[in-house]
Formats: sequence, C-alpha cells, structure tokens
Amino acid sequence: MTDLAIKYRPRRFSEIVGQDPLVSWMREQIRSGAGRSVLVAGPVGTGKTTSGLIYAKALLCGSPLDGEACGACDECREFGENGRNMPSFHALECGEHSTVEEVKDLLEAARHAPFLAPRRVLMLDEVHNLSRRASDALLRILEAPPQWTSFILLTYRLNLISGALRSRLSSFELSTLNEAEAFRLLVDVCDREGLPYDQEGFRLIFKAASGGPREMLRAVEKTSQFGPVDGAHVRLALNLNFEDRLTAFARALMVGDLEGQLREVEEWPDTAERKLDFLHQFFVFQYFDGCRRLRREDPLMRSVGAETQEQLVAAFAARASASGCEPEAYWESVIAALTSNTKVTEHSLAMIVSRVNRLFKPVSPIGGEVGKPRALSAKPVLRVRSSGSAAEDRTFLSWDEIRPHWQAASLLPQRYGVLFNLRLTISRSELDRPDSGGNARLVSKLTHELGMRLKDWCGAASPVLHWMYRHEWDDETGQRTRILLSVPDNHVAAALAWLRLKFVPRVSRMCDLKVQIACRPGMSQEDRVRFHWQGVRALSRSLGPRFTARADVGPLSPLVDLLKIPLRWRAQVRRISNMQARGMSASLTGGPKRNDESGMAWLSALSDGAWRVLDTGWELREYEARKAERERRDVALAKLAALLPGADDARRESIHLEMELLKSSWSSDPMNWRRGWSGWWLPVTRVKPG
Ligand SMILES: [Zn+2]
Repeated sequence: MTDLAIKYRPRRFSEIVGQDPLVSWMREQIRSGAGRSVLVAGPVGTGKTTSGLIYAKALLCGSPLDGEACGACDECREFGENGRNMPSFHALECGEHSTVEEVKDLLEAARHAPFLAPRRVLMLDEVHNLSRRASDALLRILEAPPQWTSFILLTYRLNLISGALRSRLSSFELSTLNEAEAFRLLVDVCDREGLPYDQEGFRLIFKAASGGPREMLRAVEKTSQFGPVDGAHVRLALNLNFEDRLTAFARALMVGDLEGQLREVEEWPDTAERKLDFLHQFFVFQYFDGCRRLRREDPLMRSVGAETQEQLVAAFAARASASGCEPEAYWESVIAALTSNTKVTEHSLAMIVSRVNRLFKPVSPIGGEVGKPRALSAKPVLRVRSSGSAAEDRTFLSWDEIRPHWQAASLLPQRYGVLFNLRLTISRSELDRPDSGGNARLVSKLTHELGMRLKDWCGAASPVLHWMYRHEWDDETGQRTRILLSVPDNHVAAALAWLRLKFVPRVSRMCDLKVQIACRPGMSQEDRVRFHWQGVRALSRSLGPRFTARADVGPLSPLVDLLKIPLRWRAQVRRISNMQARGMSASLTGGPKRNDESGMAWLSALSDGAWRVLDTGWELREYEARKAERERRDVALAKLAALLPGADDARRESIHLEMELLKSSWSSDPMNWRRGWSGWWLPVTRVKPG
C-alpha cells in the first residue's frame, strides 16, 4: 500500500480540511494579485509546508483560477509537487545545516527582480532557527519588501519568533483538526481507498493522533494492514491495549500481587520476548519521565495514565526510603532485573516477573501515620505559648500584608527558573489560642532539615530549596500554617517520601497536628504553573475585598477578583498579633536582589498592573531568555579577552576600551531589550489576517 499521508496530501486549497482563515486569506491574495508575505505557525503535522507549497504554486501560476493554481500552465508544470526545479521559487530549511551565508544569499536574491517570472517566492521553514544576524537581515527586508517578492515563513515554535518579525507579516496559527473535521478527512480517505471502518475506530485514531492529519493517515495505513479500520483493529495496530495491560501489571506489582502479575503476562497475546521488552520499555519510561523528570519521547508509553505514574513514583520512593537507598538506585535495580541475556521463554519470563516482585517488596502504606492525633509527650519540643487573644475580631488582611507573597512568587521562576511544587498545610486544632511561635519553629525545623537533605542529594552550594509560608487562625479550623516549597524537580519524589515517612511522623509525636501534603499534579508546564499560583492564592485567601486596582481596560476591580482568588476560599481570619504571620526563604526576599547578575531589574507584571499575564508563567520564558542573553554577552566578552595575552600595552588598552564599550552598549532596562517572547508592555501583535 502506498503512503496514505503522501497520497492524500492536499494539492489545492480546496482539498485542505479545516484551517479556513488561512485558506481564504491565501486565496484572496491570489485573486487580488497582492501576494502578501505570511507567517504560518502550528504543531508538527498540521500542514504548514503543504499550505505553503500550495500558496507558492498559486503565486507563481501564469493564469490562476478563482484563487487556485491552474495546474496546466508552463509555470504550474515546472513547479510540479515541490517547486524544486523552479528558479523563482526558493525554499530553505533553517536547521542546523543552513549557514548565515546561505540565508544572506537567499535574501540578497530577494532584492533582485526575477529574470523571467513576474514574482519570486521565498519559503523559509523552521524560521525560529534563524540566527540573530540572519533574522535581523530578514527583518530589514520585510520592512520594505521588494514588490516582486513574497515570503512564506513557517515555524512550529511561534513563541520563539520576535514580536518585531511577527508585526511585519500576517500570521496564522494552524491548529490540529477538531473531531468533526478529522472524521470528514478519515471518511473521505477510507471511502476512496475502499476501506471498511466504524466510528469507534475513527475516535481512537483521532485521540491517538491528537487530531494531526498526517499522524491520522499513518494510523489508518497501519490499521489497514491488520484489517478494517474499526475499534478492535485500531487497538491492535496502535498497541492501545498495552495501556490497560501495563497499568494492571503496575497495580498488581504495587500491592505485591504476584498471581495478578503472572496472569496479566500470561493472557497477553504476544511472544515472551516482546512482552519482556514492553515491560522493560514501560519501566524505563516511568523512571526517566516520572522519577528523573527528564523528557522522554515515547508516544506509546506516554499514553499510560499520569495517575499510574504518580503512584509508581511514590511507591518506588517509599520503598527506596524504607531500604535506605536513593530512589534512582532503586529504580535502576528493578529495571536491571527486567532484562535477560538468554532467550526468553514463557517460563523464564514468569521467573523474571517473580524476581521483580520480590525486589519490590511491599512496605506499610505510605502516609499511614500522617494525621493521626497523638497524645502530647511529657516534654513537648514545640512549646505551646499564648501569643494572642482569641477574643480579637475576625478581619481581612491588607494588600501590604499579602503583596510580598505575590512578588516573591514572581521572582522565584524569574530568578531561578523553578516553581513551587509542594504544598503543606499544617493544622493544629487542639489549641484554643494561636501559637504561631510553635508553628514558626516547626517551619524552621522543616525547611532547615529538608534543605540539608537536598544539599546531600544535589551536592550543590547554591540554594535548592525555596519556601514561603503564612500562619492563620480561624474558629473552625484552629491554627493553620500553609507552606509552599520549591524543591528540584528530580527530587520531588524523594522529598515527598522524606516528609511522609520521616518528618511528619516525627513531629506528630511531639505535638498534635494534622499535615496535608499536595504535590504538583502533572508534568506539563501549564499544570506546574497553575499549581504554583493556586498555592499563592491559598496564602492570600484573607485579602480584603475592598482593595481595588485598575484592570487593563475598564473600571476599578477588587484585587481579590484580579488575582482570581476562588470565591469559596475567601474568608476573614483572626489577626495573629505580636508575631510575624508570614515568612520566606532568604533566596526570595527583595532588597539586595533587585537586579539580576547583569544588573537588569526584574520584571513585575504585578506592579505594571498586567493582570492578564499574572499567572501565565511568563517568568519561565524570561528566565530562559536572560540565561541565553547572559551567555551571548559572556561569549562576546570572552572573545575580546582571548586577545589580551600576548598583546602589548597599547593594544591591551584598546582591547579593554573595546570591552567597556561593548558592556555599555548592552541595555540594562528590562523593557528595552529584545527577547524571544513578547512582553505585556509591547503593542499587541497582529494575528488576524489583513
Ligand atoms: Zn498555472
């Protein structure tokens, strides 16, 4: 069978499914003869190159019909499928292999009118890869484009394209197909290929390929080698059954059910060798992706639920901790047992499963001790001391009391590139009056001990643990301390295990308390950013509703709304007097750390009143951008410094002078510096056609 993705690749605008705004804009460019330049962005496999080629062909066609290439004229024949032989069409992939010179030559060519054709078309793929110099050159041309040249820029990483470049072009973002569009495409292809199908098969393909047309056609092709494109055959062809099989196996392993594990393996219709291979692949993926937090491209294993992964990581961490070894080492020993040097038979596979099960001996359930009230011991380390009056009125807190949490939470990702990923809520309901001194000591103990642990694990001198907390007191819940922690991502599981198995049971013995621990739920950046800001909102729940600020457009709004503090959380608390009700790690306090290493001030969406972007995680992009910029500056300086040895005095002086000039040419104003993401202070980039 031929490659369906190639066979059914659209050749004309009318064959493109979905993407209506782009298609009608391009056809209008052909009809009117304007032939404007365009930037097309979108995930891999959504048809950027395909639509770019169709547009290029129509632009170069000698007699286009209704916004489409005619397909019959000399130009169309010369263009063919990909325009490779057409002198007035230039395509360049801006990958590692394209040099600045190549790009420069191409742009130079754009300045000259073509000899024979009325128009030149330049198509630059993966344009986000252009070097700074090359993209500056491109920008200059686009400022005053020659009338005979049309640019087609393609990228799958729109966020790396500078705002300046985007503002020079009409830009479009292609999306994956929605379910209706996907079904239209699948029905069309299957009908034309004479393949039987059913709805369930299509739904599974749509889900597995996330609506990417190219991936969906590949899935159809794969399935057709097994039989009709129906649910059963799609499952078989795309290995979708493994999801359930591996999840069931992992569950049985975690509870030490050897019989269940053997049953899963025996009922699995495949060769023993391949089954062992799959188990190995599964645990290797969970190890890197879940325990080490390293991105690993394995679409098959990625489909196994995140919930199973969280459970596995926690189970491994608990067992590692119980047997006194690092979680990483524990994973490695289990994974090592899942290989075989000799030929694998059903019998030897059963023995391997049994060995892994023995290695993975169950321990008592995690956190079984947490939250269990205990009698106060004779000599409580955390002394109960009265430090406020329960008779005080309930009150809301002022913005001055809450603002430091928001400032620090924005500084953390900007300065260190990390987010809060653990949340602890410590409740002590036995007290009849606030004891924030006791809780403050608890926080010191926790952050000190965890900090020492992390230093052991990471072996780093720089701060790896960041934290902030707030004490509160209300009548229903008693005293509560909410703590946000940021630990290195690859040590989250170990930190969790330490908290649950060591720290909490130990302090519970000293006083009567309840501890809730929440951990960053998923791995996607979106989840991480949401978890971070939800934690900050929890600390801000008592912010007074009478504090207002001006929203981007429109009237004054209450801060509690602008900060999106959930309605059900908002509540008054009893004021805790004579005591600092909040605190944070030294790494987050302002003062001397107002600027980064290169003297550039930190950005603050909060002080700029940019409420829209407050919780979007822009700080992480800023962190990356500043890191890259610092590296760029260091390299530039190092190049000059390399000339110093061996230079005579006069030359040295001029080199030093040049270095000073270079340094002073670098802007230290954070708003006046070009970066790969567009800040809220820049004019909004046009993304609409026109
Ligand atoms: Zn033509």
